Amino acid sequence: MDGRVTTPSKAVILAIGSEMLSPARHDTNSLYITGVLNELGIDVAYKSVVADNLAELRAQIAQALSRHRVLILTGGLGPTDDDLTREAVAGQLGLPLREDPDLVEAIRARFATRGIPMPEVNRRQAQVPDGATVLHNPRGSAPGLLIDREGAVIALLPGPPREMQPMMDGPVRDRLAAFTGGLRLMRRTLRVAGRTESRVEELTQPIYSAWLTQAPPIETTILATPGSIELHLGTQVRHEAEGAAALSEAVGQLACRLGPDLVSLDGHTVEQVVGDLLRARGWRIALAESCTGGLATSRLTDVAGSSDYVERGWVAYSNRAKSDLLGVSDALIAEHGAVSAPVARAMAEGALARATADVAVAITGIAGPGGGTEAKPIGTVWMAVALAAPRETRTLLCRFLGSRHLIKTFAAVTALDLVRRRLLEAPWDIDWARR
Ligand code: ATP
Repeated sequence: MDGRVTTPSKAVILAIGSEMLSPARHDTNSLYITGVLNELGIDVAYKSVVADNLAELRAQIAQALSRHRVLILTGGLGPTDDDLTREAVAGQLGLPLREDPDLVEAIRARFATRGIPMPEVNRRQAQVPDGATVLHNPRGSAPGLLIDREGAVIALLPGPPREMQPMMDGPVRDRLAAFTGGLRLMRRTLRVAGRTESRVEELTQPIYSAWLTQAPPIETTILATPGSIELHLGTQVRHEAEGAAALSEAVGQLACRLGPDLVSLDGHTVEQVVGDLLRARGWRIALAESCTGGLATSRLTDVAGSSDYVERGWVAYSNRAKSDLLGVSDALIAEHGAVSAPVARAMAEGALARATADVAVAITGIAGPGGGTEAKPIGTVWMAVALAAPRETRTLLCRFLGSRHLIKTFAAVTALDLVRRRLLEAPWDIDWARR
């Protein structure tokens, strides 16, 4: 293990089992393990799914320990020939395996409670690498193992989640907490709407790149979701107050740079923020949706307590529905087409009047893959937001790119963001806007 790069706070997770290299089974254990590690301030450098193959496993263990000091393995601790985790770790670390007589008895006793003698193959599970701590498994026959070796902590945990989780949450968490010396990871998530990922990167990179070299350093990750961008900030600190202060300062700098494009400082979604704004005003909203088929209403009503402010929504998909439900005149549709500013405006104003709401939003567009023209290509969406007081309606033409599903999602989130902007009297110069 000479030449190891000492990055004390990074971990590697190896999920062992050939079945997870087929489409039949997923590795979910690593997600749980990552959650516990992150709570302890330990980032995961990478994770792998490894076949039940001794050479492959040993190579993966060697690679992980050549660079990192926390290695968590899950699976492959069973009694059969294809359960190789114990042998691979012991072999790679040069630790002899010895049968632990107490463990043999514990496994035998476990079988006895079910009235069956212990199969001889289960003796394999009592093999313990020299110096390892045995983690008892009240929920199964495979004990876990914890090894401290040359400054590294290596945990071998069973594959079944209900057996793995108590070990990860108990003795492994305790060992790692001591290992990190009380270091913890603190995070903040900011959400931005109306901007593309590259635009957010361009705006924020000059700010966050400087944080990497400060004390405490802050790592920033940008994650795009359809219609909004998340900025994840994380810092490892020993004292909560130090982390909180550093993150507040960082968030303040980003807030100044992003202005009204910043939806929330706590990861709250556009629909949550719109809901909070409506509730604070005591306002009720109505929605008139064509191409989004009710998606904006659905997202708004995903938020618990949305009955406080959602009045009603219409899916006015056909031209007849736009006329029958919202009072959009046939002549207007004939003159401008269903995807047009006047029709979006008439839909929003029709919804506002019929619902006696305080604000209404309308969406009409072409989600594709058919129906596009040169003048109105796929992804063309007109939006309108109508207010009751002051009586005023604003429209916006957007162009979204992507699949039908993506265009619908973009349109729904963007419409809700326009409501947010309207309520805050923020500009509508979003990246999707077209003249
Ligand atoms: P056992 O004594 O039960 O055989 P084991 O440690 O050998 O324990 P495996 O045989 O590798 O565990 O896996 C047993 C079962 O546990 C798998 O069939 C699967 O359902 C589940 N499992 C294993 N690894 C994972 C994982 N990474 N994520 C989710 N489930 C897993």
